[in-house]
Amino acid sequence: MQKNIAILGSTGSIGTQTLDVVKANSDKLTVEVLTSNTNADLLIKQAQEFNPNAVVIADDKQYHKVKDALQNTDVKVYAGEDALSQVVQMNTVDTVVTAIVGYAGLKPTISAIKAKKAIALANKETLVVAGELINKLCEEYSVPLIPIDSEHSAIFQCLVGEPDKIEKIILTASGGPFRGKSLQELQSVTKAQALKHPNWSMGAKITIDSATMMNKGLEVIEAKWLFGVPHSQIDIAVHPQSIVHSMVQFTDGSIKAQLGLPDMKLPIQYALSFPDRWHNDFPRMSFADYPQLTFEQPNFDTFQCLRLAYEALDKGGNTSAIINAANEVAVSAFLQEQIHFLDIPKLIEKAMQGMDFVSSPTYEDYVATDEETRKFTKNLI
Ligand code: NDP
Repeated sequence: MQKNIAILGSTGSIGTQTLDVVKANSDKLTVEVLTSNTNADLLIKQAQEFNPNAVVIADDKQYHKVKDALQNTDVKVYAGEDALSQVVQMNTVDTVVTAIVGYAGLKPTISAIKAKKAIALANKETLVVAGELINKLCEEYSVPLIPIDSEHSAIFQCLVGEPDKIEKIILTASGGPFRGKSLQELQSVTKAQALKHPNWSMGAKITIDSATMMNKGLEVIEAKWLFGVPHSQIDIAVHPQSIVHSMVQFTDGSIKAQLGLPDMKLPIQYALSFPDRWHNDFPRMSFADYPQLTFEQPNFDTFQCLRLAYEALDKGGNTSAIINAANEVAVSAFLQEQIHFLDIPKLIEKAMQGMDFVSSPTYEDYVATDEETRKFTKNLI
């Protein structure tokens, strides 16, 4: 049966790879909606190639550019942030791939859940900010939420058939470009060095998150909400080859792992094919190319963001929303070369100390926390 998908953030790293998966499975997948933030040129090109029902450009100043370019097609063109939340509700959409980066993904994801669309979730910030609320909504609207993040896809695959016998989740981490460096050495690292990930080619924000290891911290939070496991049962193993994507230790001590090349097309396709597996011609992993798979402990003293993410989970309430907003502001400032690399955890910690704690946040509390934390953190810069 043909599955009709909406791709939120189709012009990004996950979005373009989702379109590669569509091309490889054009007998099974149809694109209904494509969206971008400011990249009008690529959105137009994608619309001309995939002929979706509708496109949205979030930056409404570019509406006419997109509309004019697509005037001889049947593609409907919308603009603005609210349009993202509206298009996901279209009757013709079955599954929404959430590939927007950052907090901006939260609102359209909630809208898609309320319209009973299946969610293929790449936008981890949605669960980091509002995991408890998202779980409640998925239950209320009977909506499946399948992870795309490679680690969580691995865990999800390990749990097929036995979801309840988890003793421990072991999230693997590449360690990023600064694995093995001391705090002293991190003081002078540049934006160019931080953007050079050893194994994965990804958008700028998640690449910096990988360098600070905040990405792994955000993934611990994501895992807690996806798999219902307290953070005391989530371990991290640094695995520089990025071949073992993550593992589950079961209650009898047995460990299952999922392996493959570091290629996001695999977890993207699995999220769209589940519970089936589809044949593809993507490159295969050979053990001859990886004679050694190694594992080491993460360094919480050097990578302070990891410690802060576990502290946020200890504290609960709106604390994860605080670290997410402070991190987004700090990473953006680092990318604009306004702050040093080690200022990122310092700003996050100050925001955690300075912002008001809300123990049982509502959606409105998450929105307010995000807005106030952004203001607070920008004032510190
Ligand atoms: P990119 O920066 O490459 O792409 C982000 C996409 O979101 C683009 O289409 C961008 O549009 C759009 N976008 C950005 N801001 C907004 C906004 N305010 N409103 C609407 N659309 C917006 O990110 P990635 O693809 O790397 O990451 C996407 C998500 O997937 C993140 O949450 C990330 O953590 C997660 N993820 C990514 C992985 C990867 O390999 N890249 C792996 C695992 C998870 P435009 O092009 O116009 O800027």
